[in-house]
Amino acid sequence: MDIADKLARTHLLTKTEAMELLEHAEDRELAKRLAQDAVELRKKYYGDKVFTRGLIEFTNYCKNDCYYCGIRRGNLHAKRYRLTRDEILECCENGYELGFRTFVLQGGEDPFYTDERMEELVREIKGKYPDCALTLSIGERSREAYGRFRKAGADRYLLRHETADEEHYRKLHPKEMSLAVRKQCLNDLKELGYQVGAGFMVGSPGQTLECLAEDLVFLQELRPEMVGIGPFVPHHESRFAGEPAGSVELTLFLLSVIRILLPKVLLPATTALGTMDPMGREKGLEAGANVVMPNLSPVKNRKQYDLYDNKISTGEESAEGLERLKKSVALAGYRLVCERGDFIGQ
Ligand code: SAH
Repeated sequence: MDIADKLARTHLLTKTEAMELLEHAEDRELAKRLAQDAVELRKKYYGDKVFTRGLIEFTNYCKNDCYYCGIRRGNLHAKRYRLTRDEILECCENGYELGFRTFVLQGGEDPFYTDERMEELVREIKGKYPDCALTLSIGERSREAYGRFRKAGADRYLLRHETADEEHYRKLHPKEMSLAVRKQCLNDLKELGYQVGAGFMVGSPGQTLECLAEDLVFLQELRPEMVGIGPFVPHHESRFAGEPAGSVELTLFLLSVIRILLPKVLLPATTALGTMDPMGREKGLEAGANVVMPNLSPVKNRKQYDLYDNKISTGEESAEGLERLKKSVALAGYRLVCERGDFIGQ
């Protein structure tokens, strides 16, 4: 296909081209070809390495009300938890012993964790583990707060844009949230020198191929160091309870396209992909992904970080499952490594 050729050659897509490519997403031959190109690029830049990030889901309190999310404030049935500073440090310690050299602190937008408390936490973790990369994923904060966290030692920040289409953004979020603010946060984070991760859900309610084309254009403009995508999975206590989940195949197709658009990007095979398909993670790697994020949270709280139904938490995506994960990654032809795995430049 002409567009696939052009994509492989130039690593660029216009919105119209992205639309046309996506219209053929069910063409198995095309998907295969894109996956081959993607895997080749990933090998060229990262060899056979698959990077690990230790995920610490440290609070499920959230002041936001994103309609798709199981831990949004409007879900009165969610059992809330918040790890203490000591518990978080313990997660890091366990992770460090297991070999992890990057930690991701992810949570709802929890007012208890004020800018001051977060700054202190970052300083403490980086003081104890100066050799580790620290990633934050705690939603929207002021530029000033992002600057303080950065100064305290935070290296990376994950903030999915969720959808780059204004109208679609409105369908997924209450009116006090806006795509403009989300984009502003991402720009601030970039300017402050974070390695930034954007991303979106595949198949979220109301998403059209045009929305996805918009997402691809947005990623090309932002040029994030990381991109997290995974299928939308309905949560039973949400207005989208009856909506179908996003497609694994389309997610894999998009992983390949993103790898070709941004050849050096760090691209996780996400938990949502592993939730929707028992071989989802491996399939993600075959499509061009090169990161996995095992869960380092205390086992007693895992079920409570309930973003969507049936979220997997104790299998190979968990820290305890690391040995099994190593084996399955090796079987897929790759090598799981625990090093920091920094972005290697645009
Ligand atoms: N509060 C943080 C972290 C959010 S949870 C923030 O705003 O960035 C991390 C990601 O989980 C979200 O960005 C969203 O893309 C994803 N997620 C939430 N609900 C989901 C669902 N129902 N299905 C699939 N992914 C979901």
